[in-house]
Amino acid sequence: MKINIVFLKSEKDFTKKQKQKIRDIVRGGCKDTAKLLGIKEPVINFTIYPFNKNYVGGFAQAKDFINISIPRKGFSEDYLRSTVYHEMHHVKRGYVGYAEKISLLESLFVEGSATVFALEQVPEYVPKWSKYSKKMLDKWLPDVEKEKHKTGYSHDEWFFGAKGKPFQLGYKLGVYFVRRIQKNYPDIKQEALVNKSAKDLLKMADL
Ligand SMILES: [Zn+2]
Repeated sequence: MKINIVFLKSEKDFTKKQKQKIRDIVRGGCKDTAKLLGIKEPVINFTIYPFNKNYVGGFAQAKDFINISIPRKGFSEDYLRSTVYHEMHHVKRGYVGYAEKISLLESLFVEGSATVFALEQVPEYVPKWSKYSKKMLDKWLPDVEKEKHKTGYSHDEWFFGAKGKPFQLGYKLGVYFVRRIQKNYPDIKQEALVNKSAKDLLKMADL
C-alpha cells in the first residue's frame, strides 16, 4: 500500500519537526489498521490541514482519501493516532463521503465500532464520545427503537447535538451497542465485526 501524505498550505504551517511527527503517526496508524482489518487499497491519500480549533478533526472522504485537521498550536499525539485508526475503520466499512443514505442503526454501528477499535488500539486516548450513562440509555434507546431503520434520520440531531439531543449522542449509543456485543461474545475481534451487516450486529448485541 502506498501512503501519500500532503500538507495543505495555510496561514501558519507546522514546523518541520511537527510535520515529521505527524507523518510518522499517520503512516504508522494507516499501515497498522490496513494489516489488522485487511484493507487492500493500493493507495491511501491523507491531506493534513493546520487549523485554529482545539480538536483533531478526521473525515474519510473516499475509500482512498482521508482529511485530518490538526490544531496548529499543538496537539496530542495519542489523539491524532486515535483519529487515524477511527477514520481507517470507516474506510474499511465503506463509510465515506456524504453520498450514501444509510439507516440510523448502520450509522450507530459504524461510529460505535470505529470508536471502540480506536480505543483498543490507542487506549491512552479515551474520547469523550465513548462514554455513556445508564440515564442516557434509558432516555434515548426508545427513540432509537422507533427510528433505527430510517435512512432519512437527522445526522445533526443524532450525532452533533441538534434539537434537544445531547452532543455526540449517536457515538455514545454506538459504543454501548458494541460493548453489548463484546459482553455476549467476549472473544470477538473488531476484525470479525467490521464486515457484518447492521442487522447481524443488532442480533449479536441482543438489546
Ligand atoms: Zn467517525
